[in-house]
Amino acid sequence: MTSTLDPQTTLDDQVITWRRHLHANPELSFQEHATADYVEAQLRAMPGLTLSRPTPTSVLAVLQGGGGPGRTLLMRADMDALPIQEDTEYAFASKNDGVMHACGHDGHTAMLLGAAQVLTGLASQLPGEIRFIFQHAEELFPGGGQQLVDAGIMRGVDVAIGAHLFSPIPVGLVALKAGPLMAAPDTFTVTVTGRGGHGAMPHETVDPIVIACHIVTALQAIVSRQRDPLEPAVLSVTTIHAGTAHNIIPNAVQLSGTVRTFDPGLREQIPQWMERLIRGVTEGFGAAYTFEYECGYRATINDPEITEVLRGVVRDTLGEDALVEAQPTMGGEDFSAYLSEAPGAFMFIGARNEDAGITAPHHHPKFAIDEAALGHGVKVLVEAARRLTVWDTGRPAT
Ligand SMILES: [Zn+2]
Ligand SMILES: [Zn+2]
Repeated sequence: MTSTLDPQTTLDDQVITWRRHLHANPELSFQEHATADYVEAQLRAMPGLTLSRPTPTSVLAVLQGGGGPGRTLLMRADMDALPIQEDTEYAFASKNDGVMHACGHDGHTAMLLGAAQVLTGLASQLPGEIRFIFQHAEELFPGGGQQLVDAGIMRGVDVAIGAHLFSPIPVGLVALKAGPLMAAPDTFTVTVTGRGGHGAMPHETVDPIVIACHIVTALQAIVSRQRDPLEPAVLSVTTIHAGTAHNIIPNAVQLSGTVRTFDPGLREQIPQWMERLIRGVTEGFGAAYTFEYECGYRATINDPEITEVLRGVVRDTLGEDALVEAQPTMGGEDFSAYLSEAPGAFMFIGARNEDAGITAPHHHPKFAIDEAALGHGVKVLVEAARRLTVWDTGRPAT
């Protein structure tokens, strides 16, 4: 008896099954033990892969093509979830309290498993080598990407690609952009120390709350007055903590926030401007400060040539109309760790479906994807691998 199943339908179903299992069993960054075991078990069932664990919760699968020399391509999926309580009605909703796949990384993992499934079947025709990296800890700095680079997985890699399911874009579309795509997300903490006292006798204190408010206001002038308006930047103060009661002026205030940039020069400049303002304001009021600035992931900058290849892949697999230009976002992505080692590109796979009510943003308790996006992702990844492993990137492998 022969099967009448359409192989693509069967594969799409399998990818959805993988995704739902992962969705129901989310794990936080650096704790993806069951996830990595599950992924490894699925990969073990595919022929021709050499598997390893570069870190305790990541999985690397290497496929040697049998089609002669070619390029070494790294394809990356991230696997971690977020500390969010899921608020959806899905039968496959998170079983882990307070943990949710609210960014779509469950889908990324399933798509890359799907691509591995197809590509292992094509191995005899493929030139070069494909490394499938199932990465831990994208959501939590210092991130899994850099750890994997440090573990050596990029040695000998010629091209790196990755994809993010993207809820702002309708399902069926894929967004690409050459050049800067995602920002470098840095963080800062400022402590202002004055002298506390009675709320009724402010003249006997150095009130750090008033000073902190001046600092928050002064910092707004960096993006509006000091930065070149044509160079993107964000500076947001996102926490402010002080005080215990209505009649006590506290001793100290702590502020923290984030700075987002694309340009490395501006990225270096902003903390210097910040500290000059913080120093000036606190000295002016007779208080003291500490200022800590931590550089996060680098900006994600797509290689123009690889981006062009991927544009062709999207047009040829999903149709002319599927390709749209991505808008750069001030969000960060640790895929940039790979791009500092080899040229590559990162793309957004549309996952929004207004008619089905799938509209919640990433990192939201109601975040969801249209699962048709998974099949689109698999198709694009497979064809991208076929083309990018060939030395001349213009021609698909045959
Ligand atoms: Zn995220
Ligand atoms: Zn994400």
